[in-house]
Amino acid sequence: MKPVASQPYRLGEFHAFEAASRRFLYLVPAGAIFEMDGAAQALLDRLAERPMTHHELVEALAAAGSDPSEADELITELYHAQEIVSGGTVAVPVSSPPADFPLQSLVLNITNQCNLACTYCYEFGADKIATPQGKPKYMDLETAKASVDFLVAESGRRRALHITFFGGETLMNFPLLKEVVGYAKSAAAAAGKSVDFSLTTNATLLTPAIIEFLSENAIGVTVSMDGPADLQDKRPVYKSGKGSYAVIEPRLRALIANHRTRAITARVTLTDGVTDVVRIFRHLKDDLGFHEVGFAPVTNSGQQAYAIDDDAMDKVLEQFHALAEEWLAFALRGEMHGFSNVSETISELIQGVNKSHPCGAGLGLVGVSPGGDISPCHRFTDADTHTLGHISTGIDRAKQSDFLARGHIGSKYDCQTCWVRPLCAGGCHHEAFVRYGDTGHANLHYCDWIRGWTDTCLKIYGVLAARNPEFLERFAQRKALS
Ligand code: SF4
Ligand code: SF4
Repeated sequence: MKPVASQPYRLGEFHAFEAASRRFLYLVPAGAIFEMDGAAQALLDRLAERPMTHHELVEALAAAGSDPSEADELITELYHAQEIVSGGTVAVPVSSPPADFPLQSLVLNITNQCNLACTYCYEFGADKIATPQGKPKYMDLETAKASVDFLVAESGRRRALHITFFGGETLMNFPLLKEVVGYAKSAAAAAGKSVDFSLTTNATLLTPAIIEFLSENAIGVTVSMDGPADLQDKRPVYKSGKGSYAVIEPRLRALIANHRTRAITARVTLTDGVTDVVRIFRHLKDDLGFHEVGFAPVTNSGQQAYAIDDDAMDKVLEQFHALAEEWLAFALRGEMHGFSNVSETISELIQGVNKSHPCGAGLGLVGVSPGGDISPCHRFTDADTHTLGHISTGIDRAKQSDFLARGHIGSKYDCQTCWVRPLCAGGCHHEAFVRYGDTGHANLHYCDWIRGWTDTCLKIYGVLAARNPEFLERFAQRKALS
């Protein structure tokens, strides 16, 4: 028997978990999940006691009843899978995407104006980074067309392109949106590509004609909404202080009833006093009829009164777990539940993502401000500190490289020993900037939370892998909501 490594073996980098009475490990260098049989488990248990040479390990396994040649084969197999490593072995580095990474998605901020005055808004609230003074408030057609041409030209061999319309309140510039949809379809078709669309809205300006247009053009809709009337009217209010729920509710019902081509999703921002996740979910999913509902704690510098404190975050996590259990029960029956926080993590797990960067910002996705400035994503539009170029002159490659180098997982010291880094990669660049003043800083305030939540989703994955693997396949192609 020839050892595959000259140095003693030790455990590789993984997170072990149990589900459905089976044992799995999430292998960090690969971002992949493996089920362990009894023999593999016995081998890992031995190495958990102390590092061992090849010979020692074979002997230890033989002493426990294994056939020596099978033990030898197993060691080789686990070594190549990196479940065990030897002294000099280093984790496979996550490579950087190429500098000319093609563009796939454009977020067009077609206006920076809004008819509501949500105090926690990252665009207008206390922690805003945008500097829109003196810049256009509404995107014009020329800028929008140039942006579409830019997307098509920069998309390389990608055939399926995506445009998201964003604001401010997106529908305050609906006439432009209509024009862009027609123009983008023609431009993409002329280049032998396809394009699909989505938008985010507060739903206050929806009309039957707008809903019909969205449906006819299969435009995906995400509604920013915080829950039933008592919660929705705490912060997403008009400038007069009047709540928005009564305006939104009938429009939403009309949207959900009449948008025939795409499912409607809700995105909830959790803030101080708006943390009743289960009640919010029930209202949005069951009472209003959203297809999916996703939750995110408010982005903030840590100083704001609307921020969620640690106790409230723990309660949020408890409620996430309650909904996750429901999600699993639905999944075992082959039904979709609608809690998108689980769906999105499961999707990333099944796709085996191993991220060099937390998201596509500045890579396959960029944002465009009403005046045509290019930014890493919609959250950086109109922020002078984060402009990556202009639609008329293209991306400033030096600025883009600097942004991507800062955000690369390899440059985040605190993340190097974290098992969840293939999925998290340090977290949202914008959140990091607001919290730490550096887009490349790891979002360390959420680490325990992220690890706890990912462990929950891994266990759900494990149960489904054992009991309803076909259901998991539904998530193989799914893209995360942006
Ligand atoms: S930010 Fe925290 S949870 Fe995310 S990869 Fe880094 S250390 Fe891990
Ligand atoms: S995760 Fe953050 S940086 Fe990335 S696209 Fe979303 S908001 Fe932008």
